[in-house]
Amino acid sequence: MHAFDYSFDLEGYITKERFARLKEFASDKETPFVVLSRDVVGRKYDGLRRSMPYADIYYAIKANPDAAILELLIEKGSCFDIASVYELDWMLKLGASPERLSYGNTIKKARDIRYAYDRGVRLFASDSEGDVRKLAENAPGSSVFFRILADGSGADWPLSRKFGAQPEVVFDAVLLARKLGLRPRGVSFHVGSQQKDVTQWRVAIKTCRALFDAAAQRGIELDLINMGGGLPAHYFHPIEETYVYAAEITDYLREFFGNDFPRIIVEPGRYMAGDAGVLVAEVVMVSCKEREGGVPWLYLDVGKFGGLIETIDESLRYPVYSERTGESRDYILAGPTCDSMDVLYEKNLVRLPADVREGDRLYLFTTGAYTQTYSAVFFNGFPPLKSYVLD
Ligand SMILES: *Cc1c(COP(=O)(O)O)cnc(C)c1O
Repeated sequence: MHAFDYSFDLEGYITKERFARLKEFASDKETPFVVLSRDVVGRKYDGLRRSMPYADIYYAIKANPDAAILELLIEKGSCFDIASVYELDWMLKLGASPERLSYGNTIKKARDIRYAYDRGVRLFASDSEGDVRKLAENAPGSSVFFRILADGSGADWPLSRKFGAQPEVVFDAVLLARKLGLRPRGVSFHVGSQQKDVTQWRVAIKTCRALFDAAAQRGIELDLINMGGGLPAHYFHPIEETYVYAAEITDYLREFFGNDFPRIIVEPGRYMAGDAGVLVAEVVMVSCKEREGGVPWLYLDVGKFGGLIETIDESLRYPVYSERTGESRDYILAGPTCDSMDVLYEKNLVRLPADVREGDRLYLFTTGAYTQTYSAVFFNGFPPLKSYVLD
């Protein structure tokens, strides 16, 4: 076990002024809940627009499908990456037009493809022969991009293995797609979520180049690269500013494609929503397991099943803040359910004031992405994680 050397700088995550407003707003509400900021999402969107002006932004809505966030992004002209017919219905209901949607899941039922096609979706991801055949039959003539495997190394939340295929398999799928009357458009990848190693994008872009060349030799002009998600949010560990990542990635594109880029798509999820949420939780209990020594356990009213599942293997480290100012000490942090896996941080102890006590509120920053969507429905009877929009 080790604790971080942790001096918490609140203003690294939120301005004092907004924190005061958030506390006031939260004061009469029953915890746990996430407070969302549309302003932050808007700034993230604008920041990415500025640093990758050549790219079309398809927000990956699974990160946070809150109507307020989606409506803002629709207003700003964003496109969207959807993964199911349910997300499709949700987007259409909110007023997104189907030309702005990409069906980015490589795993889909034939009837779901048909459903999306009938509602106007014409851009699909694929990574296998079986899926290409389903697309040809149920979404005839549609544009398809093909996902290559990325091993996810360097990512805090890798998406390796399950999605994508080796370049040779992708190449076969491109040829098959053309034969079956689809429009093979390009290549996609996802370098793994919360990816801090920017060189992972280079590896993937290089493979895209090779596939573009191989396809050209067979008379197929690919003209689209979908670079997926992976851009990081600001958790406990510091990250580079987005424009630094963007500038590197742009250099890699130039390296392999010169100044004449194909159409570029990015699908940020975590980057867009992560920093926009603050989870407000309450301390249920602080207790010790030993009479002497030992690290105290701090139980919150939110845990792995209440939206913090990404603490599995302590992969993602949420900054945890208490307003108390006393001497600090280390805690094991755990959730409220009767499941022994519902421990948040035990290897990476959390440093908090020693006088934190039952009934205190704690604030977990960077909880705008992959929290609410991951929370269980009735485990131990706890309701799903609520959220409110403050600004
Ligand atoms: C989840 C997902 C994303 C978003 O990834 P982040 O790391 O959250 O940015 C983008 N594209 C696809 C296809 C995804 O499945």
